[in-house]
Amino acid sequence: MTFDTLGLSPSLLRAIAEQGYETPSPIQARAIPLILAGKDVMAAAQTGTGKTAAFTLPLLQRLAGGPRVQPHRCRALVLTPTRELAAQVQESVRDYGRHDGVRSAVVFGGVNINPQIAQLRRGVDVLVATPGRLLDLHGQGFVDFRDLEVLVLDEADRMLDMGFIHDIRRIVTLLPTRRQTLMFSATFSGPITQLAQGYMQQPVRVEVSPPNATAETVQQWVYPVDKKRKPELLCHLVAAHGWDQVLVFTRTKHGANKLSQQLEQNGIRSVAIHGNKSQNARTRALADFKQGRIQALVATDIAARGLDIEQLPQVVNFDLPNVAEDYIHRIGRTGRAGAAGQAYSLVSADEADYLCDIERLICKTLPREEIEGFEPQHAVPRGRPTKARSAAPARGRQKPRGGPAAARDGAPTQARRRRRAGTGGSSAQTRGKGNTRTTSRGGRGR
Ligand code: AMP
Repeated sequence: MTFDTLGLSPSLLRAIAEQGYETPSPIQARAIPLILAGKDVMAAAQTGTGKTAAFTLPLLQRLAGGPRVQPHRCRALVLTPTRELAAQVQESVRDYGRHDGVRSAVVFGGVNINPQIAQLRRGVDVLVATPGRLLDLHGQGFVDFRDLEVLVLDEADRMLDMGFIHDIRRIVTLLPTRRQTLMFSATFSGPITQLAQGYMQQPVRVEVSPPNATAETVQQWVYPVDKKRKPELLCHLVAAHGWDQVLVFTRTKHGANKLSQQLEQNGIRSVAIHGNKSQNARTRALADFKQGRIQALVATDIAARGLDIEQLPQVVNFDLPNVAEDYIHRIGRTGRAGAAGQAYSLVSADEADYLCDIERLICKTLPREEIEGFEPQHAVPRGRPTKARSAAPARGRQKPRGGPAAARDGAPTQARRRRRAGTGGSSAQTRGKGNTRTTSRGGRGR
């Protein structure tokens, strides 16, 4: 299939070609014609599937050539859970809409409000916003929704997870009832379906991959290691694999800062991003990372949400997330839009339950590999998955989460066998302990 079969305008096809996209991703192929036909669409698509273009392209087509937007008004509103995602969505709107003269702006908190007010004063076709700052601007009379035609809720599941439901409800009451509403979410949980029922008109559901499946293109490994040796193992992996660009996840802000310092002490250029950093610091860190000025970006889950770094070859879970669904979001940072990616999880004995929950959620037993010289003294037990864990508010989490995970049992897939066959490393030796084996300290050299 090619893009020109989807009913998109020549100017959009030109912009798509300039991006180097050749074929529509499955979510694009399914959603674009429906959105162009004016339907309300709720789409389950993981990050990295091309979902931003799936809603942005038809949105731009609808807006192009329309009436000139009045001061303070907007014709389409895209709500996102995080500032980083908001910035990236607007970047896509700009890129895809460059030949259509569509005016767009992005507003989010943590930065000076005045430039945002100035942009809104002229009116914009597409406004991308995080909920809090948008309500603030509306409360001060800087934005008027009476001409709004389309509402997009991007990463709706995450917005609920982050406690934005009340803000979303308030925003929706400010919008015209006659509008097109689009909702994109990694999963269709109960609360997401409820949200759709409340705000959408006979929505068409589009699901391109089973909910909660991890990206097919991401190869995943677990490296059992003692907790105190994790920083050392990470430094070793960076050196052994020659990683120039690695995204590392930690559970806490403090953990992110500490690890970043340890990496720096070991000669690995690193920056931490998390909710306590100013928006400018986060933007700068991301730009430095994208341009290769820093090797390791250490991030907490919330800070990393929405990061789109093209061809990010690997992510490392320095800590496992205590909410299993976050694992899917984390590894979705690599293997984007069909590119191959690798996700490595450094797992210590105290994280065995988290690992079980993740394996249960993704219906896959992750291959374990011990790295020579880092074999744990405290083995990582194969504990029992606790189905309830992901539904309960996790300790240490800052915001309330949404509904329970759709955890399903399932047999380990072919992936492990394929991956094992693919490693071919002569230094890897089976240790006869389940599927755990030892790999030489040299790593696999990828
Ligand atoms: P998203 O899921 O929207 O975050 O997109 C993930 C990445 O895929 C972004 O870097 C896009 O630029 C890229 N992308 C989107 N659509 C396509 C496509 N049809 N072909 C190749 N890359 C794409």
